[in-house]
Amino acid sequence: MKRTTEPLAEYTWLKIGGPAEIAVPESKEELVQLLRECHTENRAYRLLGNGSNLLVSDDRINELIIKNTVACTDRQFDGNVVSAGASVMVPQFINECIQHELGGYEYLYSVPGTIGGAIYMNAGRGAAHDKTISDYLVSVEVFSDGDTTEIPVDDLNFDHRYSSFQEHDDWVILSATFELPSQSQEEGREKAQQRMEKVNERDRSTPNAGSVFKSGARLPLHKIPPGGLSVGNARFIGPNRIGNDGDATFSDVKRLVSLAKLLNKLVPPFQTPEVEWKIWS
Ligand SMILES: Cc1cc2nc3c(=O)[nH]c(=O)nc-3n(C[C@H](O)[C@H](O)[C@H](O)COP(=O)(O)OP(=O)(O)OC[C@H]3O[C@@H](n4cnc5c(N)ncnc54)[C@H](O)[C@@H]3O)c2cc1C
Repeated sequence: MKRTTEPLAEYTWLKIGGPAEIAVPESKEELVQLLRECHTENRAYRLLGNGSNLLVSDDRINELIIKNTVACTDRQFDGNVVSAGASVMVPQFINECIQHELGGYEYLYSVPGTIGGAIYMNAGRGAAHDKTISDYLVSVEVFSDGDTTEIPVDDLNFDHRYSSFQEHDDWVILSATFELPSQSQEEGREKAQQRMEKVNERDRSTPNAGSVFKSGARLPLHKIPPGGLSVGNARFIGPNRIGNDGDATFSDVKRLVSLAKLLNKLVPPFQTPEVEWKIWS
C-alpha cells in the first residue's frame, strides 16, 4: 500500500489543502485490514474520494487520510440489480449501466466523484428536480465498529445532500447495490450527452468544487455578476460556484463563503444558506 505525506491540495478539486499522511489501499481487503488496524489502535482517519466536494485547511491534517480511489472497483450486473465498489467513478458507472441497458442516473454524468463520495453526499440534481443517487439504491456495504455490514437504504436517512454517513465519519462505504430501470442504450447515451452539453456551458477553466451552498434556497447571489465577488484569489465564477484563480488559500475561500452568507441574509429573500461542501480543518 502506498503511504506518503503530501499536501492534500494535490487531491482536491479546489487545489487547496495542507499536508497529511495519505494511505492508498489497493484492494478492498487491504482497505478493510487498514480500517481494522485504525479501529484497534484508536487511530482517527478520514476518507478521501475524488476530492470534488471538499474544502481543506492549509494547516496539517492530523488524521490519517485514506484515499479510496483504487481499492473498491468491483462491478456486478445481474439483470436490473447492480453493485459497484465505492472507488468506481460515477460517470464510469453510468456508462456501464447504459451498456447494460439500464438507466436512471444519466443526470449525474457530470459528477466527478466516486460512488462512495456520491452516496455520502447523496449527490443529485438541484432540489427543484428532486432526484438523487439514493433513488435506486437498495443497500450499502459499510465498515463500522470494526466490521463490515450491509445497511438497507431506508436506514440511512437520505435527504437533500444528506445521509447518515455524515453523522458517522468513522463509517466507510465499501460498495453499494442498486436496482435500476431498464432503458435502451440509445436513450441513455442521449440523456448523458444532454447533461454534458448543459454543464459545458459553465466556466470549467477554474478549479472549483461544485455548488458551494445546498441549492434548496433561491440565492440572491444570482444578482451578482460572475466574477463580481472575490476574496484574495478565491472568486465566484457562477451564482453558486467558487473558483481558485491561482494560489487561493483556505482562509480566502472561507471569508468569501462568509461574505456570501452575509449577503444572503441582508438581501431578499433573506436566507441563511447551508454550505454543501465538507470542510476539513
Ligand atoms: C465540476 C463539479 C460538478 C459537480 N456536480 C455535482 C452535481 O451535479 N451534483 C452533486 O450532487 N454534486 C456535484 N458535485 C460535487 C461532488 O462531485 C459530489 O458531491 C461527489 O459525489 C463527491 O464525490 P468525491 O468522491 O469527490 O468525494 P470527496 O469530495 O472526496 O468526499 C466528499 C465526502 O465524502 C466522504 N467520502 C468519500 N468517500 C467515502 C467512502 N467511501 N466512505 C465514507 N465517506 C466517504 C468524504 O470523507 C467527504 O466527507 C460537483 C463537483 C464538481 C467539482
